[in-house]
Amino acid sequence: MNKKVVLKHGKEESLRRYHPWVYSGAIHHIEGQPDEGDLVDVMSADGTFLAKGHIQIGSIAVRVLSFDKNEEIDASFWQRRLKTAYEVRQAIGLAGSADTDSFRLVHGEGDGLPGLVIDVYGSTAVMQAHSVGMHTCRHEIAKALAEVLPDVVKNIYYKSETTLPYKANLSDSNGYLLGGTAEDVARENGLRFHVDWMGGQKTGFFVDQRENRALLEKYSRGRRVLNMFCYTGGFSFYAMRGGATLVHSVDSSARAIDITRANVELNFPGDARHEAFAVDAFDFLEKMPPRESAEAYDLIILDPPAFAKHRDALHNALQGYRKLNAKAIQKIKPGGILFTFSCSQAVNKDQFRTSVFTAAAISGRKVRILHQLHQPADHPINIYHPEGEYLKGLVLYVE
Ligand code: SAH
Repeated sequence: MNKKVVLKHGKEESLRRYHPWVYSGAIHHIEGQPDEGDLVDVMSADGTFLAKGHIQIGSIAVRVLSFDKNEEIDASFWQRRLKTAYEVRQAIGLAGSADTDSFRLVHGEGDGLPGLVIDVYGSTAVMQAHSVGMHTCRHEIAKALAEVLPDVVKNIYYKSETTLPYKANLSDSNGYLLGGTAEDVARENGLRFHVDWMGGQKTGFFVDQRENRALLEKYSRGRRVLNMFCYTGGFSFYAMRGGATLVHSVDSSARAIDITRANVELNFPGDARHEAFAVDAFDFLEKMPPRESAEAYDLIILDPPAFAKHRDALHNALQGYRKLNAKAIQKIKPGGILFTFSCSQAVNKDQFRTSVFTAAAISGRKVRILHQLHQPADHPINIYHPEGEYLKGLVLYVE
């Protein structure tokens, strides 16, 4: 008999609209004593099948894999979902592209696989589980991936140490599931970069900024660029290709700065326009030259880490964005361009825009919004799951 989660009366509405989560508060009782990560059927109070998915301790109690009673979660299920995900990346021109071999293949709910992220870098797929259920299925998923994309994926690195619930106390959360002698250089729009999937943040690179970096390149000619929160220097080497006169990259992580230097060297060997600093962003902004100075920057990128990981941290996050943007807007050269981002899922577009508005108002400068930026198409949003929207940005012209 299948293990079951039975909902309280009236709590089935969101599932009927294909929202892929069941909150713990909606559950009436659980049958069959499932372990964390087990597959369960979700039933309405009157005993109707609604969905099946992975159960987990916490406020999101079930992550839905299928709304079809007859769809088995087996090898062919994983193959079908992965194949569709790959076809989407082909449709948007990423998979198989000559100058870009790094992209997100699976974006959780956006690809019908809640709790799973897979980024592809050349011949290596980096797989990350955010749920115990996906962790439990990691070998099956890896096998399906190798079967669906035999010519693309030669190595699979599993990297879930920091994304799985700490209390679940799971073993084997990092390591190769296939291959292992992978080349660590990937390509994006013809630029090359090292991907530190073993030691780096997330899966090793922020593929979600690809299009925004390409836009930045177009604004770089003749400008003095500050790439704040640079991580491994993504925006920096685009700025250099775009003709910046100087590029300063700043990150508090010394390891990230080392890789930034290596990445600039990889693309622009011996180029003296670039300098990198392993320092705190707020200190750097405090000490940076005022707008009147010849040394002032006239193109600034602010791409901080998620300030609000949870909703209860929202107020502090908004203050953080305001402070950061106020400093940049105050000090950027007249006629300067600011690329400013938020990747906190808990902060929505309007809230972010309001904090940037407040920052602008504090500075008293004239500010125009030139572009409104977002996550790229390989980070699709399931229309029934608006929570999947997380990256937002503004490009500002500061008079
Ligand atoms: N723009 C990057 C991604 C940025 S991720 C890219 O395109 O790849 C956020 C970065 O902020 C991380 O590298 C992290 O090390 C850095 N960071 C976090 N807190 C910081 C602080 N207080 N000062 C400077 N950098 C910080």
